[in-house]
Amino acid sequence: MSQNSNNSLKPGRQQQVPPKKKWFNWWVYLLMLAIILLPSILNPSSEGKEITWQQFQKDILSRKAVEKIVVINNEKAEVYIKKEFANDPQFKDAFTRPVGSALNLGPHYSFNIGSVESFERKLDEAEKNVAANDKIDVSYIKKRSWFWDIMGTILPFILLFVLWNFLLGRASGMGTGGGSSIFNFGKSTATLIEKEKSNITFDDVAGLEEAEMEVKEIVDFLKKPEFFTKLGAKIPKGVILVGLPGTGKTLLAKAVAGEAQVPFFSISGSEFIEMFVGVGASRVRDLFKKAKEKAPCIIFIDEIDAIGRSRGKGAFIGGDNDERESTLNQLLTEMDGFGTNSGVIVLAATNRADMLDPALLRPGRFDRHIYLELPNLKEREEIFKVHLRPLVLDETIDVELLASQTPGFSGADIANICNEAALIAARNKKAKIGKQDFFDAIDRVVAGAERKSKIISPEEKKIIAYHEAGHAVVSWLLKQVDPLVKVSIIPRGKSLGASWYLPEEKQLRTESAFVEHLCATLGGRASEEVMFGEVSSGALDDLEKVTKEAYMMVVYYGFNKKIGNISFYDSTGQRDTGFQKPYSEETAKLIDEEVRKLVEGAYDRSKEILQQNKDLLVELAELLIKKEVLFKEDLENILGKRAAEKTTAAQTIQKVPTAALQ
Ligand code: ADP
Repeated sequence: MSQNSNNSLKPGRQQQVPPKKKWFNWWVYLLMLAIILLPSILNPSSEGKEITWQQFQKDILSRKAVEKIVVINNEKAEVYIKKEFANDPQFKDAFTRPVGSALNLGPHYSFNIGSVESFERKLDEAEKNVAANDKIDVSYIKKRSWFWDIMGTILPFILLFVLWNFLLGRASGMGTGGGSSIFNFGKSTATLIEKEKSNITFDDVAGLEEAEMEVKEIVDFLKKPEFFTKLGAKIPKGVILVGLPGTGKTLLAKAVAGEAQVPFFSISGSEFIEMFVGVGASRVRDLFKKAKEKAPCIIFIDEIDAIGRSRGKGAFIGGDNDERESTLNQLLTEMDGFGTNSGVIVLAATNRADMLDPALLRPGRFDRHIYLELPNLKEREEIFKVHLRPLVLDETIDVELLASQTPGFSGADIANICNEAALIAARNKKAKIGKQDFFDAIDRVVAGAERKSKIISPEEKKIIAYHEAGHAVVSWLLKQVDPLVKVSIIPRGKSLGASWYLPEEKQLRTESAFVEHLCATLGGRASEEVMFGEVSSGALDDLEKVTKEAYMMVVYYGFNKKIGNISFYDSTGQRDTGFQKPYSEETAKLIDEEVRKLVEGAYDRSKEILQQNKDLLVELAELLIKKEVLFKEDLENILGKRAAEKTTAAQTIQKVPTAALQ
């Protein structure tokens, strides 16, 4: 199930890098470039026109126009022309500056000398007939560029600094997206929402009544602590919200902050963990320091299991334990440390409470646990109402129907469906969002977008149709399988066909209901065997589900007579690594055997049902090939009204649909 709800209210981490800093970086680079180019911009061609020795000898020396020669750094000879030649047409250009017309006092020409010896030899040669007094004055000077001297010293440091900053930015960016400078490396990356900005209230949270009641108390703790403390009561320090993803944990925490009108620090557990040991702990310290400055306030730590996982668990698997442990220890210390009345309440969210370190859950730390469940029918209706509020709807919308079509959906799924429906309506250029848009959105969220362009040969289409018809017939004729509402052979997402069931919301499921569910799931493959005498690879998804379910029946629910009323389920999550089985080799063999028998039995029953109703199967499959999508009414026309609808068999919540045929 995808939960890519675009309108998620989760804190935006991109806010954490202030845009100012990016500008700052650019300015540094620009400044460095300018410094490098500056000397040549300010002092263009100060060495005179570049010529060769031959030109010098022929055009300048022979005319006795040279005032002096200055040899720079034993490399370059700069030639100064006598002033009286300023008006000479040959040297006119040399005396005027490239820009402007002021008299250029030289050097007017320059040339490379090769080596000092050869230069002197050539000059002596050229002046061999000149009287000693008239010989050209040659001086040798060493010129040092202050700019490059300084740059030579500081450039390596600048480069090192830039490199270091870059590497640290990358390192901290890996886990968090924040703290990209050495100066705030150990600082917490929490996003702060100030009180005037948090406008989420309990009105935005629908359906979580019991949880809401509990967290409302926190608002009172923050608003009027003296009310409780005057009787000697201690204000709780931490509240942990436990629930599946998308059940509204973040939303509830934000609503608390919004109602209490206090600042709200939001951070994800994984943001504490860095490549370097010690950073996590220092971030925890920093977070609590900042929070205390803003007290009364709320710290919200999402996915706290990232740091709060039981210490020592999986020590030989992951090497990151040291850092996590020190971060957790710091968190425990901080929670113990801040005085009861300091007005900082820590809310944390997780979907794996069983993984948390017991030290974190003991009284005085996260001593209140609030469990958020998937919403029931009534609650879904309320959540729909919240998310339908901003949408432009037409009169076909029936909130009750929408809620009834979405069992097993979380609040985030519902938010996602509402958004998806609006997008679909917009794509179809509608002025208002209608019922059909919502149904399309539900199908899309459940089974992925339709992929009509996927090329399927007629033979394949026939197999898919018989496969889906098999599911439909078996599930229709068995009393305790959830009612089928739609069958389609249009490819969606990864699957080639799909059946939509409407699960009844029951908390208990009998053994026979489990077995019938196995039969319905195997109906697709059974149909292929009954019709074509051969099976295809299309049942992969079904078989995976059947295998898991059968093992669950035998190993967890104690449904098997031979294994007995024994469950190997481990609610503490201690055996997560799965290296050790809690049963002997013999029991393992027996489990495998019994599971195989169970699946075999269900498959045979499916085949039997289909063989007895082959004419219905063929009729349904042929209609499916023709129409591609069949609804409940089509199924009723062929298979008759479903007997199961009159019964009240105990069934459990199950997400629609079972996508078949990978
Ligand atoms: P979690 O933190 O439990 O993973 P969120 O609180 O981030 O889930 O929920 C995601 C989105 O789902 C919320 O922003 C909200 O739009 C929607 N949502 C979830 N539960 C509810 C609810 N009870 N009422 C209204 N909207 C909800």
